[in-house]
Amino acid sequence: MDIGSHDQLAKASEVILTNRVGVHSHIRGLGLSNEMEPRQVAQGLVGQVKARKAAGYIVKMVKEGRVTGRAVLIAGQPGTGKTALAMAIAKEMSDGAPATLMSASEIFSPEVSTAEALTQALRRSVGIRIKEETEIIEGEVVEVTIERPATTSGAKAGRLTLKTTEMETIYDLGGKMIESVIKENITAGDIITIDKATGRIAKLGRSFTRARDYDAQGAQARFIQTPDGELQKRKEVTHMVTLHDIDVINSRQQGFLALFSGDTGEIKQEVRDQINQKVSEWKEEGKADIVPGILFIDEVHMLNIECFAFLNRALEADNAPIVIMATNRGITKIRGTNELSPHGIPMDLLDRTLIIMTEPYTSAEISSILKIRCEEEDASLTESALSQLSDLAKETSLRYVMQLIMVSKVLCKRRKATEITTEDVLKSYQLFSDEKRSEDWLNQHADQYLFHHSAPEINSAA
Ligand code: ADP
Ligand code: ADP
Repeated sequence: MDIGSHDQLAKASEVILTNRVGVHSHIRGLGLSNEMEPRQVAQGLVGQVKARKAAGYIVKMVKEGRVTGRAVLIAGQPGTGKTALAMAIAKEMSDGAPATLMSASEIFSPEVSTAEALTQALRRSVGIRIKEETEIIEGEVVEVTIERPATTSGAKAGRLTLKTTEMETIYDLGGKMIESVIKENITAGDIITIDKATGRIAKLGRSFTRARDYDAQGAQARFIQTPDGELQKRKEVTHMVTLHDIDVINSRQQGFLALFSGDTGEIKQEVRDQINQKVSEWKEEGKADIVPGILFIDEVHMLNIECFAFLNRALEADNAPIVIMATNRGITKIRGTNELSPHGIPMDLLDRTLIIMTEPYTSAEISSILKIRCEEEDASLTESALSQLSDLAKETSLRYVMQLIMVSKVLCKRRKATEITTEDVLKSYQLFSDEKRSEDWLNQHADQYLFHHSAPEINSAA
């Protein structure tokens, strides 16, 4: 079986799951010193030092291969950085290790069984770093000419002259490559590499001989030597894909395009068996590394007993990802049973789980987090707007206030100002309701709604 062409794998490794990761983009790691001590503010993380230190030890144990049945539970109130901590762990694990964020309720869907949904989530969280030899053409652009046809339907023609310190060759360009040349804005003096199999062009930098154009190029230009030797070379490239990507590429009914639509349906067990076998062969031959990432399951008490049993078994597998569960529940019923258990998690799973607690933030920590977030979003705001947002975060939630920053930035831009003021914040606050306000409002206006239930009692954290 051919697990996927070079082109498919290269494309798959470009499909990056950016959804939901956005609000955590400021987090770059756990911010620990070499002695594993957390600094108050480091790598985008603020406070929560005990939890960060514990997370640091987990990363260390996983890296040393000393954790079996890798399950972690982060317990704490909403908005205490449980997801943030999971993201930080992912960043610390390995360069490019995949991280999947999901909420437990997403496991339940009318299309696929819970076992399939969990399997997909687990396999999305295991990275395969594939090493391949590929033919490339690498050199300095001497000249590039593209003839635009008189009619829009006519095919474009193009030619590219490349040189190394030893040779110079003219190449005819196909349609796809012409697009690529235009998109990458390739001009004379650029040093480029062309992947022969895919026709993909990447700009490596500008030639040193062009350093005098520095002013015209701006500060971004990276100057490098003109390559020597042959124009055509063999080069080792690596792609990071997930086991799930490979599953999808190889599942007959779905095919490669499903990767982009995300509409993958059930994948046959035999496909997965073949892929597992192939991947372990690749590993033995030194063609691939298996890079376990993390699967983060928020609101884990929403899983039922079958899901927990399935997870428990899945954790025993070689190369299982680290499963990080999060919940804000205390002692509560395990779904699908009448049994009570801490966090609604069965004892056999809890038994092998390392538990980390997160604590509520102080006002100073909240404003420090908001400041970092504003920098990340390139939003500048007045001191009073910042303290207003911090107050709001205490009353509502951090997550809600993160949204307000985004909205305020848009409002501020619309009035062509550069700094967010308390006015902008107030307007966004009025535009979008937080959970509590909307609940209060619903309760006050209960009689106007059909089927209104008064709010059920929520299990208190014991
Ligand atoms: P939870 O998962 O506990 O509900 P989140 O991790 O979603 O909380 O936190 C809400 C927001 O605040 C997110 O955007 C998160 O990145 C940010 N955040 C939370 N804790 C920290 C922290 N200690 N340092 C920096 N940012 C944080
Ligand atoms: P169970 O299957 O009953 O839940 P395990 O066999 O998984 O328990 O035991 C839990 C851990 O304790 C394992 O790491 C096991 O090696 C260790 N262990 C259990 N019993 C003993 C024993 N009598 N002596 C030494 N180690 C033990």
